[in-house]
Amino acid sequence: MSTEKRTFTAEVQELLNLMVHSLYSQKDIFLRELVSNSSDALDKLRIQGLSDPNLLPEGDLEIRLDADPEARTLTISDNGIGMGRDEVVRDIGTIARSGSREFLTALKAKQDAGGEGTAAATADLIGQFGVGFYSTFMVADRVVLTTRRAGADTATRWESTGDGTYTLDEAARPQAGTTVVLHLKPADEEDGRRDYTDPFVLREIVKKHSDFVAHPIRMRVERQEPVLDNTGQPVKGVLPKTVVEDETFNSMKAIWTRSRGDVSDDEYHEFYRHLSHDWHDPLATIPAAMEGAFNARILLFIPPKAPFDLYHRERITKGVQLYVKRVHIMDDWKVLLPEWLRFLKGVIDCEDLSLNVSREILQHDRQVKSIRNFAIKKTLEAIGKLRKDKPESMRTFWREFGAVLKEGLAADGEHRDRLLDLILCATTHGDEPTPLADYVDRMADDQQHIYYLAGTSLDAVRHSPHLESFTRKGVEVLFFADPVDEFWLERELTYRDKTFVSVTKGEIDLGTGDAEDEKKDAAERPQLDSLLQTLRAHLQDDVKEVRVSGRLTDSPACLVGDKDDLSPQLEQMMRQLGQDPPKTKRILEINPEHPFIGRLAAIHAENTRSLKLRTYARLLHGQAILAEGGTLPDPGAYSRIVMEVANEAVTAGAPPPRAAIATNDPAPSASS
Ligand code: ADP
Repeated sequence: MSTEKRTFTAEVQELLNLMVHSLYSQKDIFLRELVSNSSDALDKLRIQGLSDPNLLPEGDLEIRLDADPEARTLTISDNGIGMGRDEVVRDIGTIARSGSREFLTALKAKQDAGGEGTAAATADLIGQFGVGFYSTFMVADRVVLTTRRAGADTATRWESTGDGTYTLDEAARPQAGTTVVLHLKPADEEDGRRDYTDPFVLREIVKKHSDFVAHPIRMRVERQEPVLDNTGQPVKGVLPKTVVEDETFNSMKAIWTRSRGDVSDDEYHEFYRHLSHDWHDPLATIPAAMEGAFNARILLFIPPKAPFDLYHRERITKGVQLYVKRVHIMDDWKVLLPEWLRFLKGVIDCEDLSLNVSREILQHDRQVKSIRNFAIKKTLEAIGKLRKDKPESMRTFWREFGAVLKEGLAADGEHRDRLLDLILCATTHGDEPTPLADYVDRMADDQQHIYYLAGTSLDAVRHSPHLESFTRKGVEVLFFADPVDEFWLERELTYRDKTFVSVTKGEIDLGTGDAEDEKKDAAERPQLDSLLQTLRAHLQDDVKEVRVSGRLTDSPACLVGDKDDLSPQLEQMMRQLGQDPPKTKRILEINPEHPFIGRLAAIHAENTRSLKLRTYARLLHGQAILAEGGTLPDPGAYSRIVMEVANEAVTAGAPPPRAAIATNDPAPSASS
């Protein structure tokens, strides 16, 4: 096949353009990205080599660096799995990674916002997304990649100057693997580009960013060695000799095998950055050893920020990696952890599994199950420590990952109590989310239940009429506004012997304790009962019951459900998920103390058949939907009712319209 010239996709061009002109100062990271790619390729070959040893090279699996200061090139090569021509086109020529695409979207948003800090924001994003192979164009103006897939005979040569196109050729490569030659831009300290042909610089970058890589990163380096005499002393007057030999730059130490006391926080954080491509420190580091029937070591991290793909479970690839006896086996976090811990990064290293264990075996393996439980337990303990000792970090954790953790309440009966210990929620008593445990501690002795209100947003629930009598009586109510909340709250869980009770369900009796009120209620009861009957008749298509409320003080009405009814939000979510739950009619509760209800009672007393009562009943029902942040079934019809009533009100209260329009008087001033 002859030379083929191709154009990058628009997205890659954009990304390349950004890299070529990058102001990002941490240009050294290109090496980390290339080393990571090589390390992954070596892992893949090692795993394939377990079933097909012929694929393995004769010598070590290794990554080599080679610099030529005269030609100003740096070469990074590996004897890993390599790529076929199609893979080169697919993986290098396009943006396969969802992360890079979202990187661009996020970047555009930041750039559109403009202003100061854009460069810093870009830097932050480059760090967050780890833009991989393309970062080479920050330091090189020409990149040549030659690669041969293990088991294939031919190699492919890919070349680009980062200008929007690349070429593909057939090539020769004696062994399987990948070689990347960077034609370096001139070093420019101010621009963050160091001399990447200098072994000192390369050694330092490798030590800083890639020390933990499990394969040797080697370079042939020159060093001066003194000439020694028989006694081992340097011979005087003889110049040292130049020795050229391979040096391995990285220690390859599996940091998770060392005990907690031997590893500094800095070392853990650097390892986290290596694993996650993040620039920031993790919120929590969770190292632990499991000993007994099964042995394993875990080193997990809670990142400080949610990734963009947290809700695209299938896309999260690099979460927690499975190692067996320090050999990387797979990245499939779903075998190792429940979905509600998918935000974790790190390593789980099992001692007693076989190296060529398959995903299918792992899914049913007793050992994996107990290691999984151990990892869950340690993670929940670590979050518990955050809650106790670092409230600020806990709030960050909760903001970023709280909604994901709560998925565990819906999914996992086994860990529910411990999860409930950790949840935070906003309440009627303040804006800062408070631990559920503290809420229960604050409950009055005679408070029977944990009261909550769930809705579509915190603003909607905060102003809901359902809270009125709770607020007046000083009973604290929890707020929940994440979609997942509907699913676990539906299970009517208990926490410390108190059941969760929705303030929008069932009859609420907080006890008035006011004998006068009760006497008055009894006197007005017959009149009220008759009004309720009329309202029921007018609203029979919309609600299943109209009754007097125990929860309102200021609003005229609200909608509630029976104890076992689906909430309207859950009903709607089930429909969105393609299910078809029966339509649940709700209950309209009215507040007899409200002047509007008083007026209705008066109209009703005068004429039980008044047509106005029908209009007012529908007005009341729609208003109750709006007040809880709900959606009107027929907004057009409702707005006609509102206009009809408003028109009546202005007509009743205003002077004749003509007179007001005919006058030429200036508009009345504030003093007139
Ligand atoms: P990432 O490594 O995060 O997926 P990159 O842009 O760095 O993103 O690389 C894209 C893909 O190209 C890799 O996922 C891998 O499939 C392939 N690739 C890159 N470098 C190598 C290499 N040295 N050996 C084999 N495949 C490679």
